[in-house]
Amino acid sequence: MSRNPGKTGIVYLVGAGPGHPGLITRMGYDLLQRCDAVAYDALIPPELIASLPDRVERYYVGRRAGRHSMPQGEKNSLLVKLAQRGLKVVRLKGGDTAFFGGSAEEAECLAAAGIPVVVVPGVTAASAVAAVSGLPFTDRRHASWVLFATGHGSENTEVPVPWRDIAALPGGTLVIYMGLAKLESVVSRLLAGGYAEDRPCMVVQGATTGVQRIVSSTLHNVVADCRRKKLKPPAMVIVGPVVQRRTPIFTPAAALAGKRVLIPCCAQDAEAVGAALRDRGAEPLSYPAYSLEYCGDTAGWARFQKLAARGGWCLFASETEVRFFTDALIRRRLDLRLLGKFKIAAIGRDTEAALRRRHIRADRCSQSGSRKPVPVNRSRSENLIVFSEETPVDSGKWKEVLRLKLFRIKPASWESHWIQEVRDNPPDFILFRNAAEVEGLVAVFGREAVRELSGKCRIIAEAEKAEAAARRHSLTIRTGTADFKDLPG
Ligand code: SAH
Repeated sequence: MSRNPGKTGIVYLVGAGPGHPGLITRMGYDLLQRCDAVAYDALIPPELIASLPDRVERYYVGRRAGRHSMPQGEKNSLLVKLAQRGLKVVRLKGGDTAFFGGSAEEAECLAAAGIPVVVVPGVTAASAVAAVSGLPFTDRRHASWVLFATGHGSENTEVPVPWRDIAALPGGTLVIYMGLAKLESVVSRLLAGGYAEDRPCMVVQGATTGVQRIVSSTLHNVVADCRRKKLKPPAMVIVGPVVQRRTPIFTPAAALAGKRVLIPCCAQDAEAVGAALRDRGAEPLSYPAYSLEYCGDTAGWARFQKLAARGGWCLFASETEVRFFTDALIRRRLDLRLLGKFKIAAIGRDTEAALRRRHIRADRCSQSGSRKPVPVNRSRSENLIVFSEETPVDSGKWKEVLRLKLFRIKPASWESHWIQEVRDNPPDFILFRNAAEVEGLVAVFGREAVRELSGKCRIIAEAEKAEAAARRHSLTIRTGTADFKDLPG
């Protein structure tokens, strides 16, 4: 499948930042939205992948649970092949591409094939760790250098880290990437090289993510402390006196801190839902289970245009309806003049705001969830237009009710490593807000697998319809908690 035959593509090596999706650069994010293909590693925030436009090809080349990632040679040739199809390719890597990311091999291979490469820097894990723990790597009273090393044994065996020599260097801070797996052997070499047992040492897991944890210790105790506190990669180890110079950072208690939450939401909402959950301290698994696509209801639109001559009420029940409606107008070579004789009603303040953004003022607005009908039609002589099957309408009170269909639900397909991740490491919560989310998860994951999962995590159903759908699939559910109220979408 070739998109631009005869044209050479380009590869952007982009640093995605340390884990929070807000920490990719503006340039990196824009490239993701405009590229043709993305090849990405583990540790990339799922929102960045879930929010890619549909047309972008996705290639996961990272580590799969219990297995290694794609061999470097295969990654290199994948990038070359994609670029030779004339595609604009983003090679997305955790943190910054220049730190322990294998970028050099990829760039060399691309250069040899005559493919242009542009590098976009990112926030490396060390910067993130310093920020979240209030750590000054170079507090001038204690450290005048910082040394970045890899703790991973198989990494760089040709040029091993000279741990003993490092331990002999005074006056600096040692920052160890991939430090957790081989911590014991690294610590013993540093001690053998002359570091004191009470030398301050700190380990930060998942900096800037919802599962961030910080353990302050000493070289002597750090292995046992990490084991006891069950720290997991990705984690960074910092050694040096500056560990005791941390600026106190006040972080307000977050209701969902440390919790991993799966919301199989609509693809269009994944980014916003992820952001709202992160604000509450959680680590979201923003794996969308369905998306909405435009559907042309030709008969409905013909009727709408007829009714437009008399007017009546148009009732919008969600932001999504407003967005699809206004987009459909342009697709059908119409515009807002079609609404000239209508009065407009909105359910919920967000819907009203979405209308206003598109220069449509609502004549009436009701609270979302309120059962009071909006608008009221006392004379029964008016027509009502609604935009969803689900909007409750008292048909007897209207001259005519037209339900104009704007979009349909299209099941999403999950990246296979998402399925693996949820199986191997079940989230703390699965949250359903509507029936489509339940059906979507069952469709991508399989009914039996979802049932099995429901025994391992807490299933929260926020709305009656979601609850009914979850019961239909015999999932054990708990009622909603305040922590999950008012998420977007
Ligand atoms: N290129 C990346 C590093 C890749 S090596 C960068 O610039 O950050 C992977 C290692 O980075 C992990 O084993 C861990 O030591 C560190 N790391 C990545 N993300 C991290 C995070 N959010 N918190 C702590 N350490 C992290």
